[in-house]
Amino acid sequence: MDPIQMVDLKKQYKFIKDEVALAMQEVMDTSAFINGPMVQAFQKDLEHYLNVKHVIPCANGTDALQIALMGLKLAPGDEVITADFTFAATVEVISLLKLKPVLVDVDMHTFNIDPKAIEKAITPRTKAIIPVHLFGQAAAMEEILDLAKKHNLFVIEDNAQGIGADYTFSNGSKAKTGTLGHVSATSFFPSKNLGAYGDGGAIFTNDDDLAHFIRGIVNHGMYKRYYHDVVGVNSRLDALQAAVLKVKLHYLDFYNERRKEAALRYTKLLNGHPKIVTPFRVGDCNSHVYHQYTLRILEENRDGLAQALNAKKIPYAIYYPVPLHQQKAYVDPKLDTLTFPVTNQLVNEVISLPMHSELSVDQIEYICYELLDFLDKS
Ligand SMILES: *Cc1c(COP(=O)(O)O)cnc(C)c1O
Repeated sequence: MDPIQMVDLKKQYKFIKDEVALAMQEVMDTSAFINGPMVQAFQKDLEHYLNVKHVIPCANGTDALQIALMGLKLAPGDEVITADFTFAATVEVISLLKLKPVLVDVDMHTFNIDPKAIEKAITPRTKAIIPVHLFGQAAAMEEILDLAKKHNLFVIEDNAQGIGADYTFSNGSKAKTGTLGHVSATSFFPSKNLGAYGDGGAIFTNDDDLAHFIRGIVNHGMYKRYYHDVVGVNSRLDALQAAVLKVKLHYLDFYNERRKEAALRYTKLLNGHPKIVTPFRVGDCNSHVYHQYTLRILEENRDGLAQALNAKKIPYAIYYPVPLHQQKAYVDPKLDTLTFPVTNQLVNEVISLPMHSELSVDQIEYICYELLDFLDKS
């Protein structure tokens, strides 16, 4: 058995090495390193894959979130609701733009933002909601979109972990996550489901005017060369990264399928144990692309388990160890920590196991064997 990796980018690379080399060579032969034909070709392919009108590539997922928010022309102090249990980038960009982050609790089963908590947090100053498709599972978009419509709010999807997932509405219609709100952001960080060999990100929208505005923002606020209409940023997807992503986009469904198979295998082996809660999926099998396979370990066994896995050379990760409302940068003395009972509990229970498209049956069986062995003895 090969050593187990949290994410095995090396093994994945071996299968597509020749295709990646050809695509990168093409960029170097044309020497169009910035906004050239490769970036445009990847953009078109991704628009087609997602069935969205506009993909605007940019430098990374955090930029994508910031630029998506800038596109909505919110005013300083406007309130933006997001989840207390997510990666800090989601809330960071809200604060950077002098907007007011309003953190709310998540659902115990899905780990995703709780629509009931959103509704309670809405005030006359609320302007937007940022649901995160956490760990690869589509958030409760129908409820969120209904709330947004009722209260006239923007919805910005943080799709950094959810690319390729489908959301199914109660009437049976389906759409890819990232195409449901007004605008969304994704990341091509190497370990994401569609990962580059460096940084990358993109913004998606079906709104033509917003897409036009955002295309200017990513390029120093220029709509005509050297005429700067708004204060913009410099955020571009590197052409060599676009070459890698264009190759890997062809494999995205295959990669996500492999992740789902691995998740099913884990669940089959771990389900039913009194100290383990396996990931809960709300929708059909395409509603979760398992960016992470995250267990809850009950009865305060999580940290002991982490140590035991470490001793057996089994990688793991704690996503996330501290609720955002308790992070030094975002702590608000007026907030009562009791408002976040679920997040406060999850940070002590969650553990993410190795999850990637190259995980073998042997490796999964070994991980589960060691994990169950520890929990049965403890
Ligand atoms: C990775 C990630 C981001 C940020 O992406 P970068 O490309 O690393 O800037 C934002 N939100 C979530 C939920 C993420 O997982």
